Amino acid sequence: MRKPFIIANWKMNKNVHESVDFVRAIKEKLPANKEIGIAAQAVSLYNMKKVAGASNLQIIAQNAAAELEGPYTGEISMRSLADAGVTYVMLGHLERRRLFNESNTAINQKVLAALKAGIVPIICTDEEMVQTEVNGKIHYVFQQLKSVLRDVPVNKLSQIVISYEPSWAVGSSHQANPEIAEEGCQAIRQSLADTYNNDIADKMRILYGGSVNPHNIYQIMSKPNVDGALIGRASLDIDSFLQMINYV
Ligand code: PGA
Repeated sequence: MRKPFIIANWKMNKNVHESVDFVRAIKEKLPANKEIGIAAQAVSLYNMKKVAGASNLQIIAQNAAAELEGPYTGEISMRSLADAGVTYVMLGHLERRRLFNESNTAINQKVLAALKAGIVPIICTDEEMVQTEVNGKIHYVFQQLKSVLRDVPVNKLSQIVISYEPSWAVGSSHQANPEIAEEGCQAIRQSLADTYNNDIADKMRILYGGSVNPHNIYQIMSKPNVDGALIGRASLDIDSFLQMINYV
């Protein structure tokens, strides 16, 4: 079955020392029944991995270039991230789409580059979906998802992680809503089943992101189609993060 995946997204918070100290403080306390990861600033990742050692903490990049190497001054390649011990890369986060104008085409190129470098993409998608009616039934089609998964080999799909992040809930004062989390994740799974097949849709992990905290994580994670959480603000504090990775 799908293993729960709890991810801290630190965004542009915590410097190298703060990141390493955090890893040192939690690495012996990771639950075995879940996968736990931290997405930190690129400059911290190598040292975090060294401190994490053989613990099952996943070191996650927040972005990377679509090219594996070459004349791209200022960019960070998936090839270098893989060498630094990075196992996953978050792609298409709302802030990247909104503040840096990342298009579906650019994200798609990054997804393909990550797979080439042996890094698993965690693809963030928001609720930009098109509703159509098929046989009198409302049918959600996640347009973003279709374009960012273009040309991904079918045998690589089941390892890819999707995160459903409604834009109104990310970094906002709105309460995360477990029903909406389930509805969005369920609709994404249905869309994957329609585009590919039930087997792939059943295997792919779909996370929820947006205002998750120690008070609501249990309810959110109890939903059948929610396989994990991507947590921003509430993941910055060690106690709060430990509480959330041990929600059950
Ligand atoms: P938040 O951020 O938990 O602070 O709302 C979530 C995210 O960036 O995905």
